[in-house]
Amino acid sequence: MTEPREVAPQARDLAGLDAAVSHCYACPRLVEWREEVGRVRRRSFADQAYWARAVPGFGPADASLLLVGLAPAAHGGNRTGRMFTGDRSGDVLVAALHELGLASQPTSTSSDDGLRLHGVRFTAPVHCAPPDNKPTTAERDTCRPWLVRELDLLRPTVRAVVALGAFGWQAVLPVLAGAGWTVPRPRPAFGHGARVLLEPVADGPALTLFGCYHVSQQNTFTGRLTPAMLRDVLAEAWQAAGGEPTRRHQG
Ligand code: SF4
Repeated sequence: MTEPREVAPQARDLAGLDAAVSHCYACPRLVEWREEVGRVRRRSFADQAYWARAVPGFGPADASLLLVGLAPAAHGGNRTGRMFTGDRSGDVLVAALHELGLASQPTSTSSDDGLRLHGVRFTAPVHCAPPDNKPTTAERDTCRPWLVRELDLLRPTVRAVVALGAFGWQAVLPVLAGAGWTVPRPRPAFGHGARVLLEPVADGPALTLFGCYHVSQQNTFTGRLTPAMLRDVLAEAWQAAGGEPTRRHQG
């Protein structure tokens, strides 16, 4: 069985890490669930073969901005094999990135739809779809070495992280502390629009952490998170990451 704490540190690059993630079977409950969802399927996707495996991060290896969600959606990422792809959450997120000039197209429907992200990568602290979107603490901790290594490999370029939702925020703080940034004590609280500058422990650049409500259907349908609110956080984070002014800032 793949143990992330043993395998993840050995990944030499992001392509290798992504490949290793997709062969992870470390959490019995999540492996059973992701495969069960792939067998039973939603009626509207009954003719499709589900990915039904762990879903790696997506985006360029020299990203300066990292978006950290919760976990793949059962009929989204778990079906298509790509984060934020094939469901409403992905539609909302990628449309916002496209408006800012950070995605090649406004939709994210399948792993072969041609979508490319520019300077941005998205990932999750848990790489398998959990029942009720609720991974256990043990599952989150088992999966953590993948995110630690992902940040290690992105360290030369990453300058900002957006945590989408409180779960992503809580999960990424110890990862950032372990990866060489100073996390204030007491730990900063999650909030939409929260912004925290993390200085490096030793040499190296600082990193800015942003909080943003998750792009879940519940948040976007109820208006708790509007497209404008999402764009504002992403644009601010992109600027903090040293990105060129976005389309929106240009006018
Ligand atoms: S949640 Fe993470 S550690 Fe658990 S099986 Fe999936 S990829 Fe592996």
